[in-house]
Amino acid sequence: MSIAFIDLKKQFNVLEKDIRSAVDRVFEHAQFIMGPEVIQLEQELAKFAGVKHAIGCSSGTDALLLPLLAYEVGPGDAIFTTPFTFIATAEVISLLGATPVFVDIDAKTYNIDPELLKEAVERVSGEGRLRPRGIIPVDLFGLPADYDPIMTVAQDHDLFVLEDAAQGFGGAYFGRPAGSLSHAASTSFFPAKPLGCYGDGGAIFTNDDSLTEKMRSLLVHGQGINKYDNVRVGINGRLDTIQAAILLVKLAAFPDELKERQRVADRYTEGLRNHLETPIIPEGHTSSWAQYSVQSDHREALQNSLKESGIPTAIYYPKPLHLQDAFVNLGHQTGDFPISEAASRRIFSLPMHPYLTNEQIDSITNLILKNLRNKE
Ligand SMILES: *Cc1c(COP(=O)(O)O)cnc(C)c1O
Repeated sequence: MSIAFIDLKKQFNVLEKDIRSAVDRVFEHAQFIMGPEVIQLEQELAKFAGVKHAIGCSSGTDALLLPLLAYEVGPGDAIFTTPFTFIATAEVISLLGATPVFVDIDAKTYNIDPELLKEAVERVSGEGRLRPRGIIPVDLFGLPADYDPIMTVAQDHDLFVLEDAAQGFGGAYFGRPAGSLSHAASTSFFPAKPLGCYGDGGAIFTNDDSLTEKMRSLLVHGQGINKYDNVRVGINGRLDTIQAAILLVKLAAFPDELKERQRVADRYTEGLRNHLETPIIPEGHTSSWAQYSVQSDHREALQNSLKESGIPTAIYYPKPLHLQDAFVNLGHQTGDFPISEAASRRIFSLPMHPYLTNEQIDSITNLILKNLRNKE
């Protein structure tokens, strides 16, 4: 049995003809930077997410950095986020000289806990050492964070909210698409994300006209009326035309793929829920199923036995961000965020992609059940 963790080759087999001709068209018109595909993709992404503006950019990380630059985040600012995420979420905060203030997650959803967020914002406000500026909730594993209470905290303290939808794009919260759930949102088109390209790429979403104008300038070296008029210090953060051409084909297939991801998740949950801690999707939430993550006391044994049968698994995340060397200056220690730490010790992710067959899912499930029975 050969099962891929994320099967990009299978997806390519299905979309090959359209992808090849889309890329060929770019070779022919030769507008490799900001070509017509970039403009078209931005329009289609905005429509998909139900927002006014989508801006293509060079990675999910730059898609986080650009809004923070536009909000003029810098030294002395506190940005609240989760320690149970990929490094990029908090890295961009530190890169700008601001301070990431970590807030523990909800044990069931793995997303930032709105109650703890409220406490953290009030604590930092009261201390008066840092100025609370913004919140970056992460839609972990594809599940949108709990935006209603998060937006209430933001409103009460005049903070911006930047949705890290690198994993969540394609999901929804009470009928509203991921990407539209706060003041601005970022996603990643890294190949393994639910909507991935064939290299690095990302996008920003917002309804805010003036923020958009600023981000479009920052995206191209802080340009003003033209390339050689520079009104602020920016970056080169553009999405390239070839990636946009590929993404247009993949975006067209994305709604069907999301249905298939839901099928895979439902079948895993059906088979495993009485034996492992399977994902919990709260009412009104729709996941894009970037990952299917479970918790078990027997993680190592299960991963090993799956590996022996040719089934890859992965751990997201083995070490929460507050315990990473990169953030040692924040002075955290083990025990500071116990829910994230507990999750990091027991969690692992099973193969998840739209092209997994029911037979493959069942064989993975059966292997896990057999292994667990041997433990009893
Ligand atoms: C992948 C990811 C990013 C960064 O995206 P890149 O395109 O790799 O730069 C940011 N945040 C989260 C939660 C991610 O999973």
